[in-house]
Amino acid sequence: MPDIIDDITSLKKQKNATILAHYYQDSEIQELADFTGDSLKLARAATRVDTDVIVFCGVHFMAETAKMLNPEKRVLLPDLQAGCSLAESCTASELARYQQMLREKGHRFQTVTYINSSAAVKALSDWVVTSGNAEEVVRRIPPEEEILFVPDRHLGGYLEDVTGRKMILWDGACMVHEIFSVRDLLDMKRKHPQARTIAHPECPANIREHSDFIGGTEGMLRFVGGFSAPAEFIVATEVNMLWQLKSRYPQHSYHPVPGITCACNKCPHMARNTLEKLRDCLLYERPEITWQPEFERARVVLQRSLLN
Ligand code: SF4
Repeated sequence: MPDIIDDITSLKKQKNATILAHYYQDSEIQELADFTGDSLKLARAATRVDTDVIVFCGVHFMAETAKMLNPEKRVLLPDLQAGCSLAESCTASELARYQQMLREKGHRFQTVTYINSSAAVKALSDWVVTSGNAEEVVRRIPPEEEILFVPDRHLGGYLEDVTGRKMILWDGACMVHEIFSVRDLLDMKRKHPQARTIAHPECPANIREHSDFIGGTEGMLRFVGGFSAPAEFIVATEVNMLWQLKSRYPQHSYHPVPGITCACNKCPHMARNTLEKLRDCLLYERPEITWQPEFERARVVLQRSLLN
């Protein structure tokens, strides 16, 4: 292990590269990274780095987003197959067909797209949102227009709950957040009656309704950071987030909610990035995210939605 870490550290210097890692990456990758964050924070961090190469340890749509916001930089992804069940649940051709069908039926609507989507889907959208700004964007859309929200039906359901606004929801979901076990969550709440439950809005309503705080990973960090005295938290999001929580706020204790079919909820797509692939990616400077025609329009939507 130390050898490979030394190799990565020296290759990073030699190649003038910056390593960005999502909070859902394994702890040894987060530890090595120059920046950790959610996908938006990392894409923004990428605009501030002065190295020529960015290695994005996350999944494909995140590396694409970083490339769109930093077209002049080389963006590498350790494993090009690192996908996302949520992004894959809505393809551009399916979305274009559905939008066309809605228009033919006389619907006047705006398409609001969660950032967990491909560039081609973002390019078909009016807005791209994160869990942090989705509520504000939904509230800004005039009531005489309908909203088509893609691709996450659970985040969409959460937004309907908090804004009181009905939307047309795409039927997609995150394979990790969808399978938290409500029975185990309730058991844990009984065992740890003082603990506060924090859940990602990609979780289904049956998990959200038993939670004290609902928010994305940055929101969770802010919420937990608001407690200075030692406290307990039951956490319903990808399990690697617990490493980030523990390293920032070690005075607290954290209990991950198990999945229905597994002891801990780990994203198999994120797990495709390993230390070996990170080293090889630096060494051979590939796989690389190359500029695609749809990035142009997707970039305009991203910038107007997230950077203003
Ligand atoms: S945790 Fe879910 S939304 Fe995030 S990358 Fe994995 S499958 Fe996609």
